[in-house]
Amino acid sequence: MPEDVTTCALCGSTRSAPFDRRAFRGRPVTNRICLNCGLVYQSPRMTASEADAFYAEEYRLLQEGSAGPTARNVTVQKARAESLAEFVQPLLPSVSRHLDIGCSLGILLRHFREKYQGQAVGVEPGEAHRIQAQKEGLNVYASLEELEKACEERFDLVSMSHVLEHLPDPVGYLAHLRTAILSPDGRLLLEVPNLYAHDSFEVAHLFAFSPHTLTETLRRSGFEVVKFEQHGRPNSALFPLYLTILCRPAAQPDLAPVRPERGVARKRRIGMLWRRVLSRLFPHRAWQMQG
Ligand SMILES: [Zn+2]
Repeated sequence: MPEDVTTCALCGSTRSAPFDRRAFRGRPVTNRICLNCGLVYQSPRMTASEADAFYAEEYRLLQEGSAGPTARNVTVQKARAESLAEFVQPLLPSVSRHLDIGCSLGILLRHFREKYQGQAVGVEPGEAHRIQAQKEGLNVYASLEELEKACEERFDLVSMSHVLEHLPDPVGYLAHLRTAILSPDGRLLLEVPNLYAHDSFEVAHLFAFSPHTLTETLRRSGFEVVKFEQHGRPNSALFPLYLTILCRPAAQPDLAPVRPERGVARKRRIGMLWRRVLSRLFPHRAWQMQG
């Protein structure tokens, strides 16, 4: 049975209000907003054991209509890998060990390995995708726990593309990456859907981040932002569908309380209205690639 979320994963407040309710491919999805900090999160949501079963068996089927890799998914992943490489390359002259969490078929890992000639390691819970990535010669674990048991050395780049919004405790997870997985002067590369332009409310998305709540999540996890961009690549030339951030462990821990965001519902309404209007006026620039 799904469980109610009683405290905000960013600020710890127990005060929340309904934000959005819909059916996503036949399943009810309810999101609430924290009345203290403005974080939007799914509640009720899958329990941890339900989520394990979901990602092992059902997620790709629900999301992509197939448990195995699809041609459309491969096309989107290749274009996204190119976009992420262009984002980091001006700031990242070398990468010796790259970990991609949620690596799927390993397309991003292989793309970065070609650019940087470093070692590539992945984590992917979906069995069909993991096996395919392993067939391509990549070292891929089913979970971060398995990777840690294997005593892998630390990584100077950890990437998580469209992963953070799926995790039940983003602050705890990112803090763990900083203290146990990433090298002290390493870089973390993140991309998530943007609450102010992306549909966001899918059954597997436990959080819907705005630029503000994402940067606050990183700050509370002990990271500081090196580069931040809102953009639509590779799907749209017009809408800031995604938030992409390169960050590093903060020199000094910033323990200031979470800075609240106001006007979240209004910003979401305006963003989605803007999307509808521009999609009608410029359909080809608005949607270049579905995915
Ligand atoms: Zn909160």
